[in-house]
Amino acid sequence: MKRIVICGGGAIGVAIAYFLSRRGAKAIVVERHEVAGSASGKSGGFLALDWCRGSPVDRLARRSFALHAELAEQLGNPWGYRRLETYSGWAIANQAAGGASRPWLSDDVAITGQIGSPQTTALVEPRAFTRGLMRAAEAQGAELRIGTVAGLVRSAGGAVEGVALDDGETVDADAVVIAMGPWSILATRWLPLPAVYGFKGHSLVFDARGQAPAEALFLEYQEASGEVLAPEVFARADGTVWACAISSTGALPIDPAQVAPDDGAPARLEALCRRLSPVLAAAPVVARQACFRPVAEDGVPLIGRVPGVDGAYVATAHSVWGMLNAPATGEAMAELILDGGASHVDLTAFAPDRLKTFDPARLHGV
Ligand SMILES: Cc1cc2nc3c(=O)[nH]c(=O)nc-3n(C[C@H](O)[C@H](O)[C@H](O)COP(=O)(O)OP(=O)(O)OC[C@H]3O[C@@H](n4cnc5c(N)ncnc54)[C@H](O)[C@@H]3O)c2cc1C
Repeated sequence: MKRIVICGGGAIGVAIAYFLSRRGAKAIVVERHEVAGSASGKSGGFLALDWCRGSPVDRLARRSFALHAELAEQLGNPWGYRRLETYSGWAIANQAAGGASRPWLSDDVAITGQIGSPQTTALVEPRAFTRGLMRAAEAQGAELRIGTVAGLVRSAGGAVEGVALDDGETVDADAVVIAMGPWSILATRWLPLPAVYGFKGHSLVFDARGQAPAEALFLEYQEASGEVLAPEVFARADGTVWACAISSTGALPIDPAQVAPDDGAPARLEALCRRLSPVLAAAPVVARQACFRPVAEDGVPLIGRVPGVDGAYVATAHSVWGMLNAPATGEAMAELILDGGASHVDLTAFAPDRLKTFDPARLHGV
């Protein structure tokens, strides 16, 4: 039986563990903080069938959209998967829009178009999805280890034979996958990999007690200062509403447990949301959070073998579509590792060697 260590317990890592264990391989997820403790537990969880058309990610996204429906059906949907109506629109602070809005929104909001239907857009609660998929993987024989990957174990010939944890322990493996989201840049100390950057975003979760209909909104919002933000508001199956708007250039802390919102960002987002909807104006905020999405130099994911190192693989840099693309990435990685190639998706565009490798000396002593 093949043993595969997956570094990182985000949506990408656990999806790989799920599909590997479904095929009978031994998958071991090593997670530094907690499963879904980062972007995979705090993101929007919005899924779209065809919003990546015209990009190299289109086929992956379409396959993944279908897999999300299948997984929810097969695994009893403990993560609130649901189809949605999706609208675009705009709002200006302190100014009635005078347009046709939706009943749960304030007069400030003008809805200008429907950009998704239940056939093309859906939602999951991301933490429940990531943890639910990990549990399903464990039921198939996968293992979760809480620990910090600090290096690789290599054979005399250079092949990867396992990972070294920061407590001195090692975990043997026939193959190792780097799936540490924005922290994958730290793996450039061990493997020839391109840079992965982390872009910070803030979000809130409101306990709207089911008062918002099954809708997603993509808006432009002009604050009183004149600054224009792009709030996204998603009504989830558990009765909560997730909203985000404020990106920042905040630096990625080395320890995922240290990620925190910028000063003032949650309050600014809360004020904005309360103006958008009387439902949100009355709802308590149950989470004020920030997370980093992983992005490669060209915005395209890194999915494939690490060139020149036997047994080393990478799956990261899914940017704004990591929740959507987790299942098809997991399926493709399991096929690549166990069969030598992916059957549903062509991974050529995701090959890590399309980009120049990052010089780990630039990590300045991390
Ligand atoms: C505000 C926001 C909204 C988003 N909305 C959506 C959306 O609506 N739809 C969508 O599809 N995508 C969305 N995304 C993108 C999506 O969240 C990410 O692409 C996805 O979560 C990335 O998953 P990951 O598994 O690669 O990384 P992560 O979730 O970051 O997981 C990486 C894991 O690696 C662990 N780790 C780090 N270092 C080590 C180490 N040394 N050893 C072991 N483990 C380690 C971390 O603790 C972490 O758990 C959003 C992102 C943000 C920030």
